[in-house]
Amino acid sequence: MSKTRVRYAPSPTGPQHVGGIRTALYNYLFAKKLGGDIILRIEDTDQSRFVEGAEEYIIESVNWCGFDFDEGVHKGGAYGPYKQSERKDIYIKYSQQLINEGKAYYAFDTPEELKAKRIEAEVEKSTFKYDYLTRGSMRNSIVLSADETQKLLEDKVPYTVRFKMEPGQNIIVDDMIRGKVRFNSSELDDKIIFKSDGMPTYHLANIVDDHLMKISHVIRGEEWLPSSPLHIALYQSFGWDIPKFAHLPLLLKPTGKGKLSKRDGDAGGFPVFPIEWKDSQTGDVSKGYREEGYYPGAFLNIMALLGWNPGTEEEIFNLKELVEIFDIKKVGKSGAKFDPDKARWFNQQYLSKMPNEEIAEEIKLDLEKREIFTSVDLFAVAVQMKERVAFVKDIYSSAKYFFETPTEFDAKIVRKKWKDQSSQIVKGLIEVFESVKEFKADFIEDGFKKYLNEKELGFGAAMISLRLSITGTGGGPSLFNIAEIIGKQETLKRMRENPERINDLKT
Ligand code: GLU
Repeated sequence: MSKTRVRYAPSPTGPQHVGGIRTALYNYLFAKKLGGDIILRIEDTDQSRFVEGAEEYIIESVNWCGFDFDEGVHKGGAYGPYKQSERKDIYIKYSQQLINEGKAYYAFDTPEELKAKRIEAEVEKSTFKYDYLTRGSMRNSIVLSADETQKLLEDKVPYTVRFKMEPGQNIIVDDMIRGKVRFNSSELDDKIIFKSDGMPTYHLANIVDDHLMKISHVIRGEEWLPSSPLHIALYQSFGWDIPKFAHLPLLLKPTGKGKLSKRDGDAGGFPVFPIEWKDSQTGDVSKGYREEGYYPGAFLNIMALLGWNPGTEEEIFNLKELVEIFDIKKVGKSGAKFDPDKARWFNQQYLSKMPNEEIAEEIKLDLEKREIFTSVDLFAVAVQMKERVAFVKDIYSSAKYFFETPTEFDAKIVRKKWKDQSSQIVKGLIEVFESVKEFKADFIEDGFKKYLNEKELGFGAAMISLRLSITGTGGGPSLFNIAEIIGKQETLKRMRENPERINDLKT
């Protein structure tokens, strides 16, 4: 059996959104499971839509996720060049071959003539289609004599090359996900395969390259399914083997209604791009998962489960595990809803399993960015917080009290829980805290409990009063651990000063 070779073939028209990354990943998983290769091919035949930096963006995004291509623009390979704009001569040759064999033809219709046809059809409440029914009434090399055509070509009259779609054929796309999808060629038009600007269209370039690059499986987004009968007809015209197809389900908005777009991300406050993208024209910045603080492994895991699942309850997989269990047949047919909350959940799962040393280092960097320099033991903070947040950057926002004396106190908790006797309780505890044998969570807790017993004070009321005084909040990890981490001096300082501040808030 020949080697499995797949390709990811993006057009560099802007940043690849998560859907593109998922396509690249599924191609990678599919190939690697079968010991095959994945190729990165840049499909830049539409020069008018070319965006500077888009190609580099794709490579950087995929590399950030933790995988790479075996061949491509960035690393070469035996089937290059891997950029379509550098393969023009190849396409000219194949386009010419189809013309010579009568399977394609020159079309000299001007944009104005085509527009007139469209308007004419609209008046009759139909749509103009350049196909086997209409091609005989157009200005093309089927209608014109050989001499006339030759003359127009010599005069350099602009032309396109159209594929002559034969009617009455049943074209079957045998899709690995969808099964057999049938198309009637009479409903298809004569697509342009070569444009007047001297470049091929996507259709011709795509199939010529897939053939020459020995692509065995074409795995791409559902939006390309309608193009696949044309691709099959082109393969047949050349007499080439047809690769196997798989069309991946669309990524849908969180509501499930419609395709996921950048606008959904902006409105919902979540990125739809793997890494940040800055538009060089407008200066607009589109958020990226990387910059939002997602771990690459978590992002990869999110992508993998968008439309595929292994059929078990398990959801956490690294790349190696994914390669082992990925099965294209288990990819769903219907659109996959993008769930930003679930995305956060994945990151939380990864964060909670990270080594504390690494989290501590990340906290340090995060604090430095905020110009906060602290002497507290960040390893200990990591232990206390890693199960409680989805991102390291949230440690500061949800537990500032580790690094700063609180100056604000949760108003709602103060209103509900801070009672007349609260400051007395906290003050009474100062002596207890001062005299614990060692300022460690266990000893502090013992002292606290003994004092409560002696004074016959309720645990809940004493705890919330103390917590508000030390942290300014009503929740968080064990208060005794917090006290140990911020240290004796700082804890006592807060117990001395803050009850008054909270009292002031009540009045
Ligand atoms: N250039 C197409 C794109 O931008 C590739 C489609 C395909 O994979 O055939 O998605």
